[in-house]
Amino acid sequence: MASAPSPTVPDEALRPATVDLDAVERADVVVVGAGPGGAATAAHLARRGRDVVLLDKESFPRDKVCGDGLTPRVVRELLDLGLVDEATGRSDGWATQKGLRIHGGRTVMELPWPQLDDWPAWGATASRRVFDATIAGAAVRSGARLASGVSVTGPVWRDATETRAAGVAWRSEDEDGTIREGVVRAPVVIAADGPGSIMAKRLGVERSATRPMAVGVRSYYRSRRWDDEWISSFLNLTDADGGLLSGYGWIFPLDDGTLNVGLGLLSTSREFRGTNYRRMLSAWAGGMAEEWDTTEEHHVGPVLSGPIPMGFNRVPLHQRGVLLVGDAGGMVNPFNGEGISYAMEAGRLAADVVDRALTTRRTADLDAYDLELRRRWGGYYRLGHVFAELVGNPTVMHVCTEYGMPYRQLMELVLKLMAHLTDGSPADGKDVVINTLQRLAPAA
Ligand SMILES: Cc1cc2nc3c(=O)[nH]c(=O)nc-3n(C[C@H](O)[C@H](O)[C@H](O)COP(=O)(O)OP(=O)(O)OC[C@H]3O[C@@H](n4cnc5c(N)ncnc54)[C@H](O)[C@@H]3O)c2cc1C
Repeated sequence: MASAPSPTVPDEALRPATVDLDAVERADVVVVGAGPGGAATAAHLARRGRDVVLLDKESFPRDKVCGDGLTPRVVRELLDLGLVDEATGRSDGWATQKGLRIHGGRTVMELPWPQLDDWPAWGATASRRVFDATIAGAAVRSGARLASGVSVTGPVWRDATETRAAGVAWRSEDEDGTIREGVVRAPVVIAADGPGSIMAKRLGVERSATRPMAVGVRSYYRSRRWDDEWISSFLNLTDADGGLLSGYGWIFPLDDGTLNVGLGLLSTSREFRGTNYRRMLSAWAGGMAEEWDTTEEHHVGPVLSGPIPMGFNRVPLHQRGVLLVGDAGGMVNPFNGEGISYAMEAGRLAADVVDRALTTRRTADLDAYDLELRRRWGGYYRLGHVFAELVGNPTVMHVCTEYGMPYRQLMELVLKLMAHLTDGSPADGKDVVINTLQRLAPAA
């Protein structure tokens, strides 16, 4: 195995300023988890002048298992936060691409991100080490107080009836083994603590078994193709002997000279349980070695896997003064496994709703968050659920790629549908078709 890639951005340049917590802190809002969802929520609220405490059990910069792909939906959130300079052109951990190269059956097609009024026409990649620290840094620069190395253990309640959260309890361990515990008191709590959300568990909000789930595994390879202008997705995976493997794959080029190579398997597929994901990734990567340099000598860092919760798999999204944001609410797009933009957009909406509710002082006003998110994405996620059921069957996937892939117009529509990129007032017939389908589908 080759040595780990040297980071293009030193830790010091990425490390956001942190605070030490007193045993009892007070804030307008406490945000649990400083991933993209929590950090974006904190940044938006702090920019509205709210006093925000942002807690994470890790210290930034830190690694996180991901494909590192940032679609135009993420770029829009970056633009909104004024962070786009950090995502363009400069050789500081970010790379930009013009679209998606789809590999399916015998066909390979390059599809530029669509030109739309409502969305930028470019995407990017950045390791989560760089990306998450950038968003957390933006939250801090906006005025949020970030405390890292602090594990939240659950909500604290206003009274014994437990009908209204009044903050969270936390625990930390210093380098010398000293344990510290405390509470952050706040009238509103944001649970952005990822797919394993301790906050959702403590609230009794269970994962719905009827919503799709995926498992993803990824690794990095040094490659001469690191500066590819396209991100690649693979609809049919094969090993070195041409044997068909389940799942879908991706190769995303990164600015540090590596490729993020990964694959995902939907819970709707027969092989979901009982598959050795690492072995499958190694078999697939081995089969592409000539083209992409995905050999063992080029392999760097650990192979990591993680759950991908989709289609609102934890609802309601507001409960007893706690709002679930991002993976905590299972907000990943079932069509393509993208979760970063949904976490950030949900954070932006949460900030709007919370800001208003803090002014009116009415807890019921927080319900607007759940209602609005389901209105925005509910129909689309329902369609995604049907899609996941279909493509979980390899025969359906094979027929679709064999007969659908050669048609460019059709693939442009598929790209817009899967990447959830259409204009609100569409001039393009493809947008009309997709928007109508979303409206007709019952909300998830
Ligand atoms: C293999 C794989 C590939 C993926 N590829 C992509 C991709 O290319 N593009 C894309 O858009 N999405 C991708 N996703 C999905 C994406 O990673 C998630 O949707 C996204 O990270 C969700 O952001 P979040 O802020 O909700 O949660 P997270 O990013 O998980 O952040 C949660 C934060 O909460 C903190 N935390 C957790 N528990 C506690 C606690 N008790 N106390 C304090 N802090 C806590 C964690 O340390 C973490 O920092 C992928 C996922 C996987 C598994």
